[in-house]
Amino acid sequence: HAKALGRGRAEHFSEFLAAQIAERAQLESDLRTAVDKDQFALVFQPQVSAADGRIVGAEALLRWRHPDGLKLPGAFIQRAEETGLIVEIGDWVVSSVAETISRWGRMGIQQRLAVNISQRQIDHAEFFRRLRAAMHAARAPASLLELEITETLAMHCSSEVLDAISALRADGASVAIDDFGTGYSNLARLRQLPIDRVKLDRSLIEHVVEQPEARTIAQAVIGLVHGLGCEAVAEGIESDAQAAVLRVIGCDVLQGYAVATPMAEDEFLAWARDVEPRRIAG
Ligand code: C2E
Ligand code: MG
Ligand code: MG
Ligand code: MG
Repeated sequence: HAKALGRGRAEHFSEFLAAQIAERAQLESDLRTAVDKDQFALVFQPQVSAADGRIVGAEALLRWRHPDGLKLPGAFIQRAEETGLIVEIGDWVVSSVAETISRWGRMGIQQRLAVNISQRQIDHAEFFRRLRAAMHAARAPASLLELEITETLAMHCSSEVLDAISALRADGASVAIDDFGTGYSNLARLRQLPIDRVKLDRSLIEHVVEQPEARTIAQAVIGLVHGLGCEAVAEGIESDAQAAVLRVIGCDVLQGYAVATPMAEDEFLAWARDVEPRRIAG
């Protein structure tokens, strides 16, 4: 009887595995279709100065207009990385960001636009050449581009990649460490990285209102970031109370639902005009 039960479980498990493998294969083929059929889109989330609420830039975030409905990166980015499709998708993102910077420039809107870059993209030797080509083709100034690389990626990238990043910075682009506080940083290495901004992960700022210890840690991290000559950005600000605390403990830039959610381009532009009617002409 026990044996029969065991066999039943094993069958159940292999059915489960088969279903999972089929689902992954489906996702992979859907992702290929998405690349071919141009199903990707960008949304834009504002970043504002903690001191006066002025817009200092925006982060471009990827969306997939899947036939079954809009998909967030959490549903497909990892698979895109595993299959290498992220290289093509990432090229689309970088080109779109370059074109967006250029289009906004023609409208008189000079906003820095941040783009997320994943490990697999940056490992590809040609990545930086294609990025430069995309910026050049769109006539987008490097000074309005920011690369976001995660803390973990920054800790592990090769000296060739660091050199390429430094060269891009020499052209005026900026670099932000994303999701800081979720990985393991070698502080000696952090000091040597060519970076301009450090984005404190949401988990670091989540409890700053009700937990004094969380506030102490966030404040110490901001001190560290400033000590490195960088700006501190808080991501995932969900309440005005969090924004107030971060302002008091010296954070430079705020990003999160409490400021604005990620928006489609026209919505973003309307929002930007609304908060800064004098700086951004209609
Ligand atoms: P991330 O770069 O850390 O982006 C921040 C994420 O937090 C975004 O999720 C954003 O919508 C969300 N967010 C913003 N404000 C709040 C808030 O107040 N509360 C909460 N709970 N969440 C907030 P999203 O758009 O789903 O993106 C998730 C991740 O996917 C990004 O994390 C980034 O790592 C990756 N990603 C997004 N776009 C791209 C892309 O174009 N290329 C690559 N390689 N990765 C991307
Ligand atoms: Mg990011
Ligand atoms: Mg982040
Ligand atoms: Mg994050």
